[in-house]
Amino acid sequence: MNVESLYQDIILDHYKHPRGRQLIEAAAGESHQVNPTCGDEVTVHVAPDGGGHLRVGYEGQGCSISQASASVMSEMLTGTSPAHADEVRAGFVDLMHSKGAAEPDEDLLGDGIAFVGVAKYPARIKCALLPWMALQDAQAKAGIAGGQDAAPQGPDEGMARS
Ligand code: ZN
Repeated sequence: MNVESLYQDIILDHYKHPRGRQLIEAAAGESHQVNPTCGDEVTVHVAPDGGGHLRVGYEGQGCSISQASASVMSEMLTGTSPAHADEVRAGFVDLMHSKGAAEPDEDLLGDGIAFVGVAKYPARIKCALLPWMALQDAQAKAGIAGGQDAAPQGPDEGMARS
């Protein structure tokens, strides 16, 4: 099995068996983001777990890339510190802007490395980034951001909000 089909299998597995796909009762922060070019929607909830770590939950609908990305994100970041969440998000954003040429860091990104191939398709990059942008917004609203600005720059990166 070549690495590209392995990565596709990882994405499909998260799509078919999503992790963390439920909203958090009494979430501290919430963000609903829409990717109109593909029709993806995701609502991300975030809350502190009482021990200085994050709980991340979501609901959404749309293409396999967007929904698998939300699943990977939830699995990776639940139980981590806000600062670590920022670091992972920054790494994932960098990966998605690598045009598929990056050597993804599995220690940092976990199953997120499977999205390296997606970075070759500009139309799909927003699908992959949608839940991560929602998380960043939800963390900011909850006042539990890691303090590092990991937002991608550029006028074409803005996500439409409902
Ligand atoms: Zn999509």
